[in-house]
Amino acid sequence: MYRVVKAPAKINLTLDVLRKRSDGYHDVEMIMTTIDLADRIHLTLIDENKIIVEVTEGQVPSNKQNLAYQAAQLLKDQFSITSGVKIFIEKVIPVSAGLAGGSTDAAAVLRGLNDMWDLQLSLKELAQIGLQIGSDVPFCVYGGTAIARGRGEDLTFLPSPPPCWVILAKTPRGVSTKDIYEGLDLNNMRSPDTEGMISAIEKKDFQGICRRLENVMEPTTFLLAPDVEYIKESLVRFGAEGTVMSGSGPTVFSLTMSKAKADRLYNGLKGFMDRVFVVRLIGGRQE
Ligand code: ATP
Repeated sequence: MYRVVKAPAKINLTLDVLRKRSDGYHDVEMIMTTIDLADRIHLTLIDENKIIVEVTEGQVPSNKQNLAYQAAQLLKDQFSITSGVKIFIEKVIPVSAGLAGGSTDAAAVLRGLNDMWDLQLSLKELAQIGLQIGSDVPFCVYGGTAIARGRGEDLTFLPSPPPCWVILAKTPRGVSTKDIYEGLDLNNMRSPDTEGMISAIEKKDFQGICRRLENVMEPTTFLLAPDVEYIKESLVRFGAEGTVMSGSGPTVFSLTMSKAKADRLYNGLKGFMDRVFVVRLIGGRQE
């Protein structure tokens, strides 16, 4: 049996880090939404009792370190499955970019194998399994638009923001999420207006959403990777309505309602940026 599953990226409309916990994780408060920039996961069931991973990007591991591999392994172990699966990952989402590329691949494998192995697990059960792989996996299992609290697994779903275009640009150099967390000054950060963002999303107030795009990690990432700040400044200079960094970076994105403006921003950036994309914001749940 063979199936292709789409694994869409997420962006952060807001990102706040509240505190470091005794278990080493940080408590966060962030609003995430799904965008139409997706890896394609090709799943083929095989008789042999093993998991084979192949990836189109050389920098992504194709062994047990691959989050998609870990997703298949968890289901195999939990349900004593003695056959195997070949996972071919067509990478489109840039790696180490703040777009949850690895997490969404894992979530897509959980959803795909749940159907193909007829496990009949609910999205909630898949999200619980996914949390063992990473904090962003539960959100990626559902997709849509949600506020995530705790270490990212405590999800409250929101309506979809108004349809719009997302222009994303990424510098060649990735940034380490660990380094960014270590560089944060938790007592001296300006928190996003999360409540205001929720209400702007509920009212489908596009300008209100653009005004409240905010990420507490920006100053730390900009210090470690000044070219990321340069992308943000360029997007603002080219007339973007709202611009912010996603996750721990280095991807920066802008939102606009106008395809002509999206194309203008794309053309302005593509000459000097590593990767630039124009995609639609999806914002709605998987089911
Ligand atoms: P995070 O914010 O969780 O660090 P990210 O979106 O910034 O996520 P990813 O693209 O998920 O970054 O990659 C982070 C790391 O995970 C990389 O070192 C990469 O090699 C590893 N990785 C494991 N599996 C995958 C996968 N299926 N796709 C991409 N990266 C993967």
